[in-house]
Amino acid sequence: MSTSTLADIRKKVENGDRLSLDDGILLYQDETPLQEVGELANIVRERINGNVAYYNINTHLNPTNVCVYRCNFCAFRADLRSERGYVMSDEQIVQRGAEAVANGCTEMHIVGGLHHKMKYHWYVDLVRILKEAHPTLHLKAWTGVEINWFEHLTKKPVREILQDLQDAGLGSMPGGGAEIFHPEVRDQICEHKADTGKWFEIHGTAHEMGIKTNATMLYGHIENAFHRVDHLIRLREQQDKSGGFQTFIPLAFHPENTELDHLKKPSAVMDLRTMAVSRLMLDNFPHIKAYWIMLGIGTAQTALDYGADDLDGTVRHELIYHDAGATTPEELTVEQLKNLIREAGREPVERDTVYNEVIRDPENPAQWRIGDALTVSL
Ligand code: SF4
Repeated sequence: MSTSTLADIRKKVENGDRLSLDDGILLYQDETPLQEVGELANIVRERINGNVAYYNINTHLNPTNVCVYRCNFCAFRADLRSERGYVMSDEQIVQRGAEAVANGCTEMHIVGGLHHKMKYHWYVDLVRILKEAHPTLHLKAWTGVEINWFEHLTKKPVREILQDLQDAGLGSMPGGGAEIFHPEVRDQICEHKADTGKWFEIHGTAHEMGIKTNATMLYGHIENAFHRVDHLIRLREQQDKSGGFQTFIPLAFHPENTELDHLKKPSAVMDLRTMAVSRLMLDNFPHIKAYWIMLGIGTAQTALDYGADDLDGTVRHELIYHDAGATTPEELTVEQLKNLIREAGREPVERDTVYNEVIRDPENPAQWRIGDALTVSL
């Protein structure tokens, strides 16, 4: 067990020193006051990102929910012959892009199921037709798990697959499929899909190719503090090597309609503690996101004082967490998002996917241009 104390950790944080596995576990103990953990996270948050809180205007596209895998925490997937199963047509996908552009979106976040019958070119062409029809939309598409599925479909190396996608118009990659990296947990919740080594290989290769990616952690199910801190340290080590992670997003588990529905949803205290510990452990990540869809609006807003500097976006058409019982609205307006940020005492700044400032035409907010790159002090 740890020999360090909270006072030792405070000293490390004030000096900008790296925290250890034991430090992270200590910060997760119920006996360690949440308020103090939050205060430490806020020191780091303000050192890196000042008083700014970012948001973006984006939409989600989940082109199919049919999936060969059966992760037991997933309420989104459907069997091939299930009545719930769907596959969007090219016309519907392009139409979704048109709706996004008309709404002033800068980004489309694209993830879905691994359909038993859809071929590799369907996934690549989907990116291509969207980019051709709507060149201003940044396409943040396909998790490491999907890229690994494309490896199974094509037998091509990861680099070639990412090159195909980049050529088609892929702008960056989301951070999903990370779940919990430690095999004690991963083998129980998603044993079939991309393992930890593969997830990191894919993200490392993307970084080498100049593709920015995000990273997530699904918490609040069967894992414990050790598994969570281990997860964060693995990410920190990868970031030391390849440096292309932009944002870490802790994802609160939603048990409804999953095989783990006997578990309780994580509490707000757990959500805030996880946000804060993430900010403290991931000293080389520029951004920590409070994903309001999963956390709920109140907790996400409070998280801006517990290490988070980003609230994600206006998010239209979110299905994955609403299928799992999320009761948040599917969309927030820009004004609502800005007000949430201002009410928390932070300064709202609209960003694009790769953290450039977005400047809107005040007369016609759907029109925008890219401003300066937003700087962080790491
Ligand atoms: S989490 Fe993803 S890979 Fe796992 S069952 Fe759900 S859709 Fe499929």
